[in-house]
Formats: sequence, C-alpha cells, structure tokens
Amino acid sequence: MDQDKMIAGIRLFLEGVGETFENGHLDETPERVGRAWAGELLAGYRTDPDQALTWTPTQEGGGPVVVRDIRMASVCVHHLLPFVGVAHVAYLPGTRLAGLSKIGRVVEALARRLQIQERLTEQITATLEKVLEPRGVLVMLEAEHTCMSLRGARKENSRLVTVAARGVLQDDAAVRSEMFQLIGRRP
Ligand code: ZN
Repeated sequence: MDQDKMIAGIRLFLEGVGETFENGHLDETPERVGRAWAGELLAGYRTDPDQALTWTPTQEGGGPVVVRDIRMASVCVHHLLPFVGVAHVAYLPGTRLAGLSKIGRVVEALARRLQIQERLTEQITATLEKVLEPRGVLVMLEAEHTCMSLRGARKENSRLVTVAARGVLQDDAAVRSEMFQLIGRRP
C-alpha cells in the first residue's frame, strides 16, 4: 500500500470539493485520513488470512463449533463507504480445531479491505475450508451498508444477509438447517 499516494489523493479530493488549505483547518487532514485508511480501515491487506488461522489437532467426529456475532467492519469497493455488521461462523470439525479468537482474526483480515459482502463471505468460507479441512463450514454475514443508508434508496436499517457453505453444510439440508438454528438466524 502506498500511503503517500493515498494522502496526495485525499488532498486532491478536498481541492475538488472546493476546500482550500489557506486557513489551516485542513492542514493535517490528508495525512490523518491516509493514516486511518492505510493503518486501520484497510489494515487487512497486511495480514495473510491463512497464517492468521492457527489450529490444534483433535479427534475426528466432534460436534459443531459455532461462533456468533463476530463484529466486523469493511469498506464497499463500489462507493468507498463502510459496511458494518456481524459474522456468524459454524463448522463441523475434521481433525483440526481453530482457536476462537483466530476465526475472528480471519474475518478481520479479509474484512479490512475494499470488499463486496458476497465475496467477503466466500473468502472467509474458503479460508476456513482450506486451513481447517472441516467436514463442513457455513458463514453468514449480516451488515448495514452506508452506501445504501446514506445515499441512493436510503433504506435505513436494512441489512444485507449473505451465506456461503462448503462440505456437508452445503450438501445436506438437515445439517444445514440445524446449523442455522444454532446460529439463531434464518437466511
Ligand atoms: Zn456500495
């Protein structure tokens, strides 16, 4: 990520808005905004999600693991506006168990990028499947998109819900339904 280029772009954006840098109020703004985006909002580009997901060996055939309400914030690639919500992750382990905080780190690493929610959901699911080799995995994301609530249709409080699944949680309707019950949501 080229933070200097981002800062120069923000300065240009402010000039385009019609702001001037004469009175000093905006002197620090491009730098501050550049730091916030590079350092926090888009920090996920610096983390390899595969590396973030460590696991411990376990006996095959364990029961479902469900992590609900993982808070997440991302940025819509179409409007550069945030979308904020929660992720729910459920998986049926094979011989690998993830640390709970590690699932949150995978969500964080992939969410803190320019994203669309559908792709983000797929990427989280694909990472969990690849690293944990579970019998099945299901990821549900619920988020409010400020590009919808602040502009366009202005549908406040509407949430976009996306689901991705692999293995038995993709193929077996009964197991899938049980997992939605554990998550406590319906798609
Ligand atoms: Zn958008």
